[in-house]
Amino acid sequence: MQALMLSCRKAAELVERRSFAPLPPVASVQLWMHTRICQGCGVYQRQSGLLDAFLEHREDGLVPQLTEVLEKRIIDAVHTDMTGTT
Ligand SMILES: [Zn+2]
Repeated sequence: MQALMLSCRKAAELVERRSFAPLPPVASVQLWMHTRICQGCGVYQRQSGLLDAFLEHREDGLVPQLTEVLEKRIIDAVHTDMTGTT
């Protein structure tokens, strides 16, 4: 059980990786399990999905704004990790 548990940082990493390529089955299960028990990462994953959908339909004028959003996502992920369950 312990081996299947991800840290919030790792979960955020998997969410990011999933934007670029499909996750290996084990990682998918780990991420799924984590988002069942961790509300913060569940929200993060949903927001990431929304952002991915947005990225697919982006227009050139929106790119600088997106950088800010991505920065905030990373900062939030790190912050969540530091203040999360210990
Ligand atoms: Zn988490």
